[in-house]
Amino acid sequence: MRCVSIMVKRAKGKTIQASVNIGLIGHVDAGKTSLVEALTGQWVDTHSEELKRGISIRIGYADACFYLCPKCKRYFSIKEKCPYCGAKGEFQRKVSFVDAPGHETLMTTMLSGAALMHGAILVIAANERCPQAQTIEHLNAIQISGVKNIVVAQNKIDLVSKEQALHNYKEIVAFLKEYNCQATIIPTAAHLRVNIDLLIEAIEKHIASPKFDANKPLKMYCGRSFDINKPGTKPAELKGGVLGGTIMQGGIKKGQKIEISPGPLGEKIVTEVLDISCADGPLEEAKPGGLIAIETQLDPSITQNDQMRGQLIGKPGTLPEPSEAMELEVSFLERAVANIPKELKMNESVVLTIGSMNMLGKIVKGKGNRIIVELKKPAAFWKGQNIAISKLHNMRWRLVGYGKVV
Ligand code: ZN
Repeated sequence: MRCVSIMVKRAKGKTIQASVNIGLIGHVDAGKTSLVEALTGQWVDTHSEELKRGISIRIGYADACFYLCPKCKRYFSIKEKCPYCGAKGEFQRKVSFVDAPGHETLMTTMLSGAALMHGAILVIAANERCPQAQTIEHLNAIQISGVKNIVVAQNKIDLVSKEQALHNYKEIVAFLKEYNCQATIIPTAAHLRVNIDLLIEAIEKHIASPKFDANKPLKMYCGRSFDINKPGTKPAELKGGVLGGTIMQGGIKKGQKIEISPGPLGEKIVTEVLDISCADGPLEEAKPGGLIAIETQLDPSITQNDQMRGQLIGKPGTLPEPSEAMELEVSFLERAVANIPKELKMNESVVLTIGSMNMLGKIVKGKGNRIIVELKKPAAFWKGQNIAISKLHNMRWRLVGYGKVV
């Protein structure tokens, strides 16, 4: 997965920004990393590396251009030349894959990534029973965040017999029906590149790019933030603080003023956009889709070490004021992972996923399905927004339901 810090490199020619974010979700062993590799040519297993090193987990992005072969009519990615017949492919669009960790200890990271997805590929392994615990949790998570366009990759079909594959297929169909999810199922063997053309075709058919509306006010989720200056840089040459993330609505231009909520001290702040880039190079303006980086006039000490992670970025005057308390109307998941009690108690700690921000909170008041949560730090949110709620169960944060902001 690419990291914003390499985005300062300048590519030749016109930079193309990805027009859609597609999440890769599913159980940890379903083969998501090899599927990302088959689709994008990039192999970076960020999450297991980060887990081993015990460091914070960040959402990864990997981009790929999709092409259609005019001769053999098959879809492919990565290179312009058709891998099946050698003809020059017709460019369809650039897609950004958002990698969600499948490990159960990283459920809250996955939830914060769900806010960035316009559609998802649910990866299910043909050699395991369906559903696995994270298959359920991940499908619940994207349904809470409003993602409707889903394609299922029934992966690892090369590891099972035809009978086992058919039996697993039936399990998947039953699972999708139970969870009210309409999705095309494509059997794949990612590392052998089997049916990747059909998977891309299904993505092109079922996961549309969001419509860009320049009249809508900017709404962007900040996923990372940096100080890109090397130690010892002269003050006159210092670059401003960099914010990395995804635009969900509206657009952003160089020279424009933006508002960040909350700012470093809890209040909203306004700054100016000095530069914009994506993984391939500089952009004059950016739209929804993919990971973009914005250099701002902010002091880089404010943005260093992901300090602005999870923050909302918007047109000045359009973002909600930060608040330290939130009132929610709670709905428990009908089919949460087994054995997690569907209840929230007074003084219980919860993790709320507010857009792409995870925030620890404590329940300070509750009556019926209405609760008031005191947040550890101020956060910005809208009335009516869906907030995923996780509670501690067997030493792990597990998704139990969601609340609508009252
Ligand atoms: Zn071809």
